[in-house]
Amino acid sequence: METMKAAVITEVGTVQVQDIPIPELGPREVLVKIGAASICSWEQRTFVGKQKPGLPFFGGHENAGEVVAVAEGVRTVKPGDRVTLGPTQCGTCRACLRGEDKGCPEHFQYFSLKGGDLGPGGFSEYKVHREDGCFPVGDAPYELACLAEPLSCAVHAVRLMGMKEGDSAVVFGAGPMGLLNALVLNAAGVDVLLVDMDEERLELARANGISNTLCSSGDAVEDILQRYPGGVDGVVTAIGSRAVNEQGLKILQPRGTLCLFASAHPVEPLEVDPNWVHNAEVRIIGAVSADISDHARATEMIRNGEIDLSPIMEKTYPLDQAQEAFEYLSAKPSYRVALIP
Ligand SMILES: [Zn+2]
Ligand SMILES: [Zn+2]
Repeated sequence: METMKAAVITEVGTVQVQDIPIPELGPREVLVKIGAASICSWEQRTFVGKQKPGLPFFGGHENAGEVVAVAEGVRTVKPGDRVTLGPTQCGTCRACLRGEDKGCPEHFQYFSLKGGDLGPGGFSEYKVHREDGCFPVGDAPYELACLAEPLSCAVHAVRLMGMKEGDSAVVFGAGPMGLLNALVLNAAGVDVLLVDMDEERLELARANGISNTLCSSGDAVEDILQRYPGGVDGVVTAIGSRAVNEQGLKILQPRGTLCLFASAHPVEPLEVDPNWVHNAEVRIIGAVSADISDHARATEMIRNGEIDLSPIMEKTYPLDQAQEAFEYLSAKPSYRVALIP
């Protein structure tokens, strides 16, 4: 049996590069030689022990690479195609028929290793994926193309919020996901203000097209209302904190939308005045991961150069140095780091 190298979190604080079998291809499946795999906060939290899926954990769900083999009957991709890897769908269930395929039982099917191992398995030299989860990314460099998955989450959030040209929005948090949301809002013609307590991060955002920033470590409500009297049409909280969510509620225009984008660890309840929701006709929504259409759109944005993701990709490491990559990510607030097999 042929083997490949894969980075596996074996215990908290330890990533080992192991030789594991390259899975056989089943119907409609393709073998993708991974060009880059970025590390998400989910995997980083697993590494430091804040999130506890079972161990060993085979991380890696933000992937781009080259199709090198296809099973019989595969029609939509061929060897040599450069693709991003996204969700799959059955195409016939209620969720799929409504375009809400995140709810399809097959949506995350290829984000777990074949054979029942734990985790998506993209921190490896090869990954088996189904053809409907492969999205052509043209000539885009793999270390940016692998960001299609996190980008798709921002595309998803902005779409669910219904944000449109001429709207105003505040994004709390200038980490990778906050910055991605700000970039997507910006690209959609929304007047966006990015709020964070870290001036260095805001400087990076300003250098990359987000001209409106606000550095604030405490309550930013007054400053924001001074800039946007009456509030804004949309708020994205890309920090999972009660204080930030509460500020988000206070800066909404009537009919505005607050999007809870970040998960909270630990969970803290949020108090909302139901009469205010009733009278102001505001919406409070959540957003996490993406539908297939969002992944397709994100890949298209990268392929067409509609969005510059280079500020998000901070550093790359060879797959062999996965341990160093995880340690680097865990040592200080970072953007994305990718493993290159
Ligand atoms: Zn991710
Ligand atoms: Zn389905």
